[in-house]
Order: sequence, then structure tokens, then C-alpha cells
Amino acid sequence: MGKLQIRVLGDPVLRERGRDVDAFDAALWRLADDMLETMYDAPGVGLAAQQVGLSLRLFVYDPGDGTGSGAVANPEVTLLEEEGEIEQDEGCLSIPGHYFPTRRAARVRLSGQDLDGRPIVAEADGLLARIFQHETDHTNGMLFIDRLDPDARRAAMAQINAGELDLRALKGRGAGD
Ligand code: ZN
Repeated sequence: MGKLQIRVLGDPVLRERGRDVDAFDAALWRLADDMLETMYDAPGVGLAAQQVGLSLRLFVYDPGDGTGSGAVANPEVTLLEEEGEIEQDEGCLSIPGHYFPTRRAARVRLSGQDLDGRPIVAEADGLLARIFQHETDHTNGMLFIDRLDPDARRAAMAQINAGELDLRALKGRGAGD
């Protein structure tokens, strides 16, 4: 066990709503450990099961501010809309190298279960609120670029696709050497 392979945009598993976690056992604890190791190695501040090829409603996170890491199964996010929204650059380990200004609720309430199946309820703002929204979206098969308005999403996809073309061109040159 250890580091897992991170799936990138175009992999259909990223578009699947995961099945609910129903076995809170040693296999789940190992998976969460491996996901954390993969996230820290990347490095990132959150990682959902879909990003390591599993269609499961589970994510891990660590905002990197010393508050520590966590794992959440079967997450549900409630946007506390009276607290407003914040637009900030957001990225994703499954869309590496691309960051786009993304509007998110400033404060959310997260509910779900911990790795023993016990209920979790937490309120968060700042980066943690953004992580909870981003990762819960992943467990439902949604990516952050889906949260952009239509024009911004088109521009983002054009930039991402151009990046892939550059990559192919580089590989092509390498093969010719
Ligand atoms: Zn992501």
C-alpha cells in the first residue's frame, strides 16, 4: 500500500457519483491513509476517492495550517449563504497546472461520517470551506470547472486543451530525438 495514481480530466471515473461508504473497516482506513499519502506527495490540500479511481463518497483533506488532516465519508455540504461568496483562484490535482477564479460560499456546514461511521458536523470558512465544497463536488462526480460561469468555463477548457496539445508536441519532439 502507499501512494496511488491520480486520475486526470478525461478519466470517466471523475464524472461518477460515488456509492455511499457503508463499510467502516480496516480496508477503508487503509484507503484513507493511502489517499492522504498521495495528497501530501502531490502536494495538495484535499483528495477525493474518484481522483484515485474509486467511485466512492469519501475524501481526505489537510488545509496545511496546522489544524491537521481529516477524512469524511458520505459528505453533504450546506452553503451558509447569508455569509456571502468569495471568488478565489482554485485548482485541482486532476487538472494539474491550471487555476481559475472560482466563486464559492464563504462559509459552509459539512455533515458526514468519520472513518468509524460516527456522524460528523462541522462548520468551516476560509480555505477549509473551499476544500469541503470542492471535495464534496468530487464525490458527486463534479469538477470545479463546472462551477465557472459558461464564458469562463469555455475559456478554461480552451486553456486546458491547449496545454494538452503542448504536452503532445513536447512528447513528439522527444520521440524524434
Ligand atoms: Zn479536485
